[in-house]
Amino acid sequence: MSESFPGDRSIKKISPVGPEFKAEQKRRAKEMKNRVYGSQILVHHRGTILAEKMPAELREMIKGNYEKYLNREAAKLDTGFKHFLSSQNSRIRSAAVGFIHRGLWGALGPENVRPALQVVSVVDRIKSGKSLAPPIWVRIVQGNELVISQLQKTVQKEFPAVRTAFRESLPEFLADYHISEPVVRTVTKRLTGTQVRVVDGLSARVEAIGGFYSPGTHTIFVAAHYVNENTKQQLTEIEEHELFHAISGRLVYEEATTERSELDDIQSTFTSHDDGRIGLHFMPPYFLDNNTQRFRWLNEAVTERLRIEYAKKRNSPLTYNTYLNEQKILEFLCKKGKREIPFEIFVRAYLEDYKPAVRKADSIIREWRHLRSTLNESFTPQFLVSLDNRIKQIGVEKVLMELEGRASER
Ligand SMILES: [Zn+2]
Repeated sequence: MSESFPGDRSIKKISPVGPEFKAEQKRRAKEMKNRVYGSQILVHHRGTILAEKMPAELREMIKGNYEKYLNREAAKLDTGFKHFLSSQNSRIRSAAVGFIHRGLWGALGPENVRPALQVVSVVDRIKSGKSLAPPIWVRIVQGNELVISQLQKTVQKEFPAVRTAFRESLPEFLADYHISEPVVRTVTKRLTGTQVRVVDGLSARVEAIGGFYSPGTHTIFVAAHYVNENTKQQLTEIEEHELFHAISGRLVYEEATTERSELDDIQSTFTSHDDGRIGLHFMPPYFLDNNTQRFRWLNEAVTERLRIEYAKKRNSPLTYNTYLNEQKILEFLCKKGKREIPFEIFVRAYLEDYKPAVRKADSIIREWRHLRSTLNESFTPQFLVSLDNRIKQIGVEKVLMELEGRASER
């Protein structure tokens, strides 16, 4: 199936196990292997510093666009930062501040400055909209990078054991959900090559749980403030949550862009790949007009429920439980319709890869279709889509309240 778009762009859905995609994934993973993720938090300020050091002439030339870019980045940084500082979860708040503290101590320690004072001044200055002197930011960035690269070594040493335990118990765990042999083989194989990177949790895009999985590079990112002796158990749990994302089924878009040079009439085509679906989270190609992602909440609910059931089966401790409202909506879908829907129907759709149809009669995403029609019968047609739209409008928590209100009226 392929569609055409104006501007010589074409898009095709491909299987995530095909050789083209695998080659690209490998290339991307290699590319990021030596990257250090210590400076995202301060990248804007570093940008300012660079701008200040630029020759005045060059600065004048790029002024308009560059300033627009800096303002946008500053707004993003402030929002991200304030979110952490105003977090109701004191553990996140103190870990976040503690992390700046550590970065600062690494950068400024030798100068006989009490780190606590430094932390306060950084936080206060950012909150009041002031900025720090460029040389201080440079040293914070350097200190942060140093800290992150050390934490990276720790995680890299410990992660393989978590992954091995996960791989070994997966077949028996998935048997509970009646997952077919070939699917178990495919998803178990997918664990090979999963890598882990430490990121600055203050500014990186991490999930509520403290990590995220990047399908394009097959990499699990974990927030730096969970890498320490006291949070070992949490770190393992974050990694397990992300490992479920890593094995989940997917669809990939292959985009081909053709450009024709007016000068010599030479035509060249560039190919790139984009994630179309990961688990139950659907993402349209980024250049489509109706750029609406769907069912992220459902994807997280299924991921977190799987992680919890996995821990229970292994008698492992559970210190975390995130996406609570999302999980309650999932529970509602299972229990409160016209008939009970077993969780395994969700799990089978979650693990399903897109496969191009060989024959016309073949269903491409059979398990997903089955889940959708089961939900339609149990509730009303298009129930899941209306739920998704409502969540986008008013948020998960309010939707849950509406659903619970409706259930008690019955
Ligand atoms: Zn997640």
